[in-house]
Amino acid sequence: MDAYRQWWYRRLAPHYRFNEAARAANRTARKYKAVGVVTGSELQALWRADSRCRYCRIGLAWREWTVDHAVPFSRGGANTIDNIVMACQSCNARKATGMPHEYAIRMAARGLRLDCLPVGVPVQLFLWGIDAPL
Ligand SMILES: [Zn+2]
Repeated sequence: MDAYRQWWYRRLAPHYRFNEAARAANRTARKYKAVGVVTGSELQALWRADSRCRYCRIGLAWREWTVDHAVPFSRGGANTIDNIVMACQSCNARKATGMPHEYAIRMAARGLRLDCLPVGVPVQLFLWGIDAPL
């Protein structure tokens, strides 16, 4: 790899990934008629703020993160940055079209406590950041 390609790879490729992910999210949102538009820089800011998976808290390098809509489009979730979290590929695939608390409960049943499940809150009472009965 020559010096320019190396520079491009290190400096520009991550930015392209954010823009590509934003375009993909916007395309899917249009398909599901979900409201909202995201930009690459919003996704980049999200990843910069916390570059770990929102569910299992594994560290995410720039090639590893995926965009997850916490409330899926099929459940009426919006395509806005406040409904988007960074997730690792396996959490994103396992969560699929479930709600975050459904994913957390499913994993808890298998003995894996996700960090999005607050410590001390019974699994049955967990509702995505709100300590209220289901
Ligand atoms: Zn994860």
